[in-house]
Amino acid sequence: MTMMSEMTWPDYHRRVAEDRALILLPVGSTEQHGPHLPLGVDHQIPTALCKLLAARCDGIVAPAVTFGYKSQPKSGGGNHFPGTVSLDAQTFINLVKDILVELARHGARRVAIFDGHFENGMFLVEAIDLALRDLRRLGIEDMRIARFDYWNFIDSATEHALFGGKCPDWGLEHAAVMETSVMMYFWPNLVHNELIPDHPPARFPHYDVYPIDTAPIPADGVLSSAAPASREKGQRVVDQIVPAILQALQEALPA
Ligand code: ZN
Ligand code: MN
Repeated sequence: MTMMSEMTWPDYHRRVAEDRALILLPVGSTEQHGPHLPLGVDHQIPTALCKLLAARCDGIVAPAVTFGYKSQPKSGGGNHFPGTVSLDAQTFINLVKDILVELARHGARRVAIFDGHFENGMFLVEAIDLALRDLRRLGIEDMRIARFDYWNFIDSATEHALFGGKCPDWGLEHAAVMETSVMMYFWPNLVHNELIPDHPPARFPHYDVYPIDTAPIPADGVLSSAAPASREKGQRVVDQIVPAILQALQEALPA
């Protein structure tokens, strides 16, 4: 049993307080991912990865944080699309901080956060910092938290396989080759193959103006072509990064 939401409290309590099981917390967003992918991509991919990892390290997958910080034009297409449901930074920070403090109250001392939404990055750092500060004030000094951006574990050979030797612009990979391929592997029934966009990458100026100018943002919400995506590429990504992340987990949060 790996999913916290499917466990009874006595089972969960035994695993966390006595066995000191590692808790994996998927974090993402609810955000447009083009005409071909569902709104849940950014929490669905980390949740699927966490399930695979937890099965291999006897960990527990906590329910995902399914809303994230506001989508930005250059990384997520911007926050103006219907279906994108975002939180103010303070709300997101407090939400994650409260979850971390609660897990520690149950006895958890090792938590690994898996983020699937680029915009969450520094706000997760702040949530972790505030949680550790609160826990120290409660006398809990031995809580350890690690933060993983799963895409950083894609090695150069897999990157080559994904992009066919072309140099990828990871900033424009929103709903593009990598996410589409991984979704084809995990949830082929949620990918609308006939609607996969194929257009040149978005071109943005080297500055930002607010309120944002939506003109450079492709109307379909996809920042570069997703046409080279395939289920085989998705499987290759998953098969390569899961053992790499598992090894990193053991380094970062040893039992
Ligand atoms: Zn995404
Ligand atoms: Mn995102």
